[in-house]
Amino acid sequence: MSASLIITNASILTMDRANPRAEAIAISGNRISHLGRHADVMLEKGPHTRIIDAQGGSVLPGIVEGHMHLFAGAAELEHLQLYGTRGFDELKSRLLTYADRNPGDDLIIGEQADYVILSDHEPLSRQHLDRIIGGRPVLLYSPDHHTAWANTIALERAGLLHGRQLGPGNEIVMAADGLATGELRESEAIVPVRSLSRKGMRDRLGLTTGGEPDPFPTASEFESDLRVMKIGLAHAARHGITFIHNMDGNLYTFELLEELQRKGELTARVRVPFHLKNFMDLAMLQKASEMAARYKTDMLCSGFVKMFVDGVIDSGTGVMVDDYSDNPGWKGDPLFSPERFREIAIEADRRGLQIAVHAIGDGAVRMVLDGYEAALRANGRRDSRHRIEHVEVIHPDDIPRFAELGVIASLQPPHPPGNHGLPLEPYLSRIGEARWPCAFAWKALRDAGARVVFGTDWPVSDIDPMWSMQSAMTRPMWKAGLPDNRQSLDQSIRSYTEDGAFAGFMEGKTGVLKTGLLADAVVLPADLEKTDPASFKGIAPIATVCDGRVVFEV
Ligand SMILES: [Zn+2]
Repeated sequence: MSASLIITNASILTMDRANPRAEAIAISGNRISHLGRHADVMLEKGPHTRIIDAQGGSVLPGIVEGHMHLFAGAAELEHLQLYGTRGFDELKSRLLTYADRNPGDDLIIGEQADYVILSDHEPLSRQHLDRIIGGRPVLLYSPDHHTAWANTIALERAGLLHGRQLGPGNEIVMAADGLATGELRESEAIVPVRSLSRKGMRDRLGLTTGGEPDPFPTASEFESDLRVMKIGLAHAARHGITFIHNMDGNLYTFELLEELQRKGELTARVRVPFHLKNFMDLAMLQKASEMAARYKTDMLCSGFVKMFVDGVIDSGTGVMVDDYSDNPGWKGDPLFSPERFREIAIEADRRGLQIAVHAIGDGAVRMVLDGYEAALRANGRRDSRHRIEHVEVIHPDDIPRFAELGVIASLQPPHPPGNHGLPLEPYLSRIGEARWPCAFAWKALRDAGARVVFGTDWPVSDIDPMWSMQSAMTRPMWKAGLPDNRQSLDQSIRSYTEDGAFAGFMEGKTGVLKTGLLADAVVLPADLEKTDPASFKGIAPIATVCDGRVVFEV
């Protein structure tokens, strides 16, 4: 049988250790039928074989995005983008331009507003925003989405101007005058303002609450959500992504993805978790088991539970072992008590589910490792592949525990302060210099044998895996004498392919290029081994192949 597709004239980095290089690859149906020398692969060429000429560029296994938010990312592509904005005047001009162009928006939403968007010293407040736009509600999100800032009219309409009692870890920051400053920390504080707009609303879909849409979307809302999902998938395909570890979702997410699959428009494999929130009881894990049983194909799969145990460092909601350096007496408040988290970990593990927990501070990371260890003791060692998302600060004592417990470190190269144009402050002062060696400790984790997967947390950071690899390979030191955390090209690619596939229980199916495996590949216009790592950003795929189909090409 002749091949349906041949990619040739390429420097193929297969990531298969037994057979690391090839010149050409033949694909038949959804499988790799041959991989090797150009002349041999071309023997599979038939009258209907499509040929992609890589023109000497690299071909990699399809990119596995280890941590992202598909629907939210897609919805945000339409919002005001504030990446790189600095100072009141620039904020003002961008906000006004966007507001003029979007006169019908119930809520003007901005993304990527830095914690230091005005200056290093002056925090953004509702009064600043009122001076720019007073008559229409405005909400600006920080890049990490754990903090947002609203103007006065937005706070009034959401009923937050005079404060409100919220669950642990959430906060409406109040001023001395008894009124809200405009700064909102974590979802319970932000959602009431975000709810002023229904457009692209994750909460309406149940994505931030772990529930399902209520009421169920009408036919036209379903169509509009489908359109958003397609925009997100197209954005991923354009960046070479063929396997998505989505970090939020519910049954409705699967309905949208299944509908796209029926139409032949599903362009990536997607894993979708059950999202467990701190107000849910253990019995809710039954739903996670049902999702796991119902969705287990190579294209759409569940089988894991996503949780948050803390917030982020910048807003002081990350949970630390020792006090914040700039706030003595404060360590952050966990979203679950350690006892409660242990119970959940044991029960989810007992059900055979994988667990993925957002833990940023070293206190949160320790609490999650303790929970995983308790699960291992209670249920015995099994192939659990539990994960910790972000691991921004880690206590040195906990570094070896990743390998010991078989826990996967899910890391985001764009996130360290100084990478991807992120400011160093307030982050570095919050954790304090003594903890700098243990922050984003990629090298120490790898040296201790931890398996590392990479992702961008899109839309928290730009989705581009090439830019992310660049940040991984060129990460600057905050001070001389700190560990050198730069990653090699091989490590960077592997964490984006082979290890990502493993984290999704898809090793032996995808993640490497090998005869007989599923055909997921990305064709790049440059030879990565001959390219300066500082120039990876901007290397845009010329083609992306998922499950044997060309899902993107220029
Ligand atoms: Zn995330």
